[in-house]
Amino acid sequence: GVIQEARLKYLTDTPGIKAVTVLFSDLEGRLHMLDYDKKFLLKSWDNLTFDGSSIRGFTAQRESDLRLALDWSAFYWTPSDVFGAGKVLVFGEVIDKGGAPYSADIRGLLKQFSNKLHKEHGYTLNAANEIEGFLFEGADAERIFHDTGEFKYVNTGGYYHSLPGDPLRTFIDTSAEVQRAMGFENEKDHPEVAPSQFEINYSYGEVVAAADQIQLYKLICRQIATQMGMTASFLPKPVVGVNGSGMHTNISITKNKKNLFWDANGEEKISKFAWQFVDRILTHGNDICLLLNASVNSYRRLDPHFEAPNQIKASATDRGSMVRIPIGNEKSARVEVRSVGPDANPYMVLYSIFKSGLDGDTAKIKNLRQAERYLPDNIYTALDDFRSSKWTTELLGEDVKARYADLKQASADRCPRLLGTIVKVPEVQFH
Ligand code: GLU
Ligand code: MG
Ligand code: MG
Repeated sequence: GVIQEARLKYLTDTPGIKAVTVLFSDLEGRLHMLDYDKKFLLKSWDNLTFDGSSIRGFTAQRESDLRLALDWSAFYWTPSDVFGAGKVLVFGEVIDKGGAPYSADIRGLLKQFSNKLHKEHGYTLNAANEIEGFLFEGADAERIFHDTGEFKYVNTGGYYHSLPGDPLRTFIDTSAEVQRAMGFENEKDHPEVAPSQFEINYSYGEVVAAADQIQLYKLICRQIATQMGMTASFLPKPVVGVNGSGMHTNISITKNKKNLFWDANGEEKISKFAWQFVDRILTHGNDICLLLNASVNSYRRLDPHFEAPNQIKASATDRGSMVRIPIGNEKSARVEVRSVGPDANPYMVLYSIFKSGLDGDTAKIKNLRQAERYLPDNIYTALDDFRSSKWTTELLGEDVKARYADLKQASADRCPRLLGTIVKVPEVQFH
């Protein structure tokens, strides 16, 4: 289309650009990056292939070749001091040999879903994520953890605490600056409640772009931390006894630029439509828990004493609830899903929240807003709920559902002390 033509022309006409980095994510949400030489890409952009067998959750060995299509609307300029000189980023879509969207590429699934709703109902799906993380001493904090049993804070401040020259503040400022340079609309940033914890907020966006931005946010933070000789960690609960890190996911739906979640006269000033969305999320709360809390470590965070939810209910005030209704106005009315961990696959998170909140039989909607129901407190329970759920089969299909469950089962089984009393965190592979 028009965007593709414009991007190709831009690449051709801009001698400073030498390479294009193509990004895609595996089934668990790990970001993968491939650099293509610009001249090669300009000749071959419509025929890019890669070996899917080494990507977790993708093809089996015997059917390993997959294709990459470029999503030219997801195109980012990058500051060269962070990403290297002469590069731009483009997100890719994984497609199979026959040209169909590849079933385990959840970004593609989310995009198809969002396009379909736009076509059929005129909906635009919006998301804003509040991504919390920790900054730890040492560029290899995971190894330091393995050697010493602890992550080392870079400062001991707390909520909103900043001193000039403080490494946490420098890290936040630098990361926010890189985000702005890449087109994020930053809103506010601050040290969070736990020592060495941070949160950088930016404006909501259309759902696929919002998920891409989560991947970029974490990439930028990790890159800046490494340049400072430190580690940015998105483990949900890296340190026992202090707040963990969440990825509160704020949801709204617009139609013809009107926020369908707003109603000045509605309960908590959100509409019936928004409450139905909430009710459906609560109904499916157990089914989709493994998609929102995707690691062994996630379940250690879900403790209301640390501002993280453990109950499948909705409330305007109680931060121990899976869903909260923040104070909003015509523009900002939204619902906040608080249980989500920052290490979950962002495409999976947004796909499962929107699909669960919108799909299905209206007659089956139950009001579970105040019911006493709890989120699983360990990954094995979440795995049981996920496997036995008909809804997750509808979400992902038998095959992708089974692959996802197998990956999570394997990661759970690598942590034999999970059900004991020792709560040191063993699962620190990539977050
Ligand atoms: N860190 C808390 C969590 O784990 C959230 C604190 C807040 O409300 O910002 O979700
Ligand atoms: Mg926060
Ligand atoms: Mg929040």
